[in-house]
Amino acid sequence: MGRLTDKIAIVTGGAQGQGEAIVRAFVAEGARVVIADVAKEPGVALAEELARAEQGVAEFRHHDVTDESSWTTLVAETIERWGRIDVLVNNAGILRFGQIDEMTLEEAELVWRVNQGGCFLGMKAVVPTMKRQGGGSIINASSVEGLGGMGSVSAYCASKWAIRGMTKAVSHELASRNIRVNSVHPGMINTPMTQAHGGDVAMEFGASKVPMRRVGVPADVAPAYVFLASDESAYVTGAEIAVDGGVTATHAFGG
Ligand code: NAD
Repeated sequence: MGRLTDKIAIVTGGAQGQGEAIVRAFVAEGARVVIADVAKEPGVALAEELARAEQGVAEFRHHDVTDESSWTTLVAETIERWGRIDVLVNNAGILRFGQIDEMTLEEAELVWRVNQGGCFLGMKAVVPTMKRQGGGSIINASSVEGLGGMGSVSAYCASKWAIRGMTKAVSHELASRNIRVNSVHPGMINTPMTQAHGGDVAMEFGASKVPMRRVGVPADVAPAYVFLASDESAYVTGAEIAVDGGVTATHAFGG
């Protein structure tokens, strides 16, 4: 029996990067997973690969986390297909670089809409179902940028602190309903997102700053999500888990 047997999960941004690793780990533990992403091609390919391997069930749904009506449809289709929603992973996110006097308000608002707004709409969309069921687990992807600051990513940083804050506020609203809300704070992880912003040069530089002297890979992050999705974390809510090779365990002189 897997650690997530019989659980129905939605993973936003599940088509690639950390979301893909989370989908694979959830399926391997027996969950049935909705891969909810705007990226159709890799999402469909992942669902088909998992179906071929007969590793449980994963299905792709085209879904834009910034669109409230897309959430309404996603929740309705998941209920129709599988009858319940036990786990929501708000993983979809985007990154934009730019110093405060260079970044436009439009660009900052796009980051806030996807990262912070998507997380807000996701929680809002699934909570009525989880209340009816008598429980659930919501896991929000923040970042080490939700625990500290880094130059040139003020908009991203703001969105990740907002996610951390919303997680704690909503965990209080829902604790008595047996709905747990936690955040995960990855450090620098080698994914399409970070490859698009500096690639291997950035990875090498990043690794030199990490106490463990390497950047993470998606498979480093997925186990934290499995734990928070499973009943093993039944008494964990409003918590934050850093998966960062020790980056936030020190100050600037300690790296
Ligand atoms: P990624 O770019 O590799 O994957 C993100 C996925 O989200 C993609 O499949 C993309 O299509 C999807 N997505 C983007 N906008 C969307 C939207 N509007 N609706 C639905 N899906 C959308 O990124 P990743 O590195 O795997 O990051 C996953 C999460 O972890 C993000 O929230 C990111 O901010 C966070 N994070 C990443 C790192 C890192 O170093 N890679 C570090 C800390 C936190």
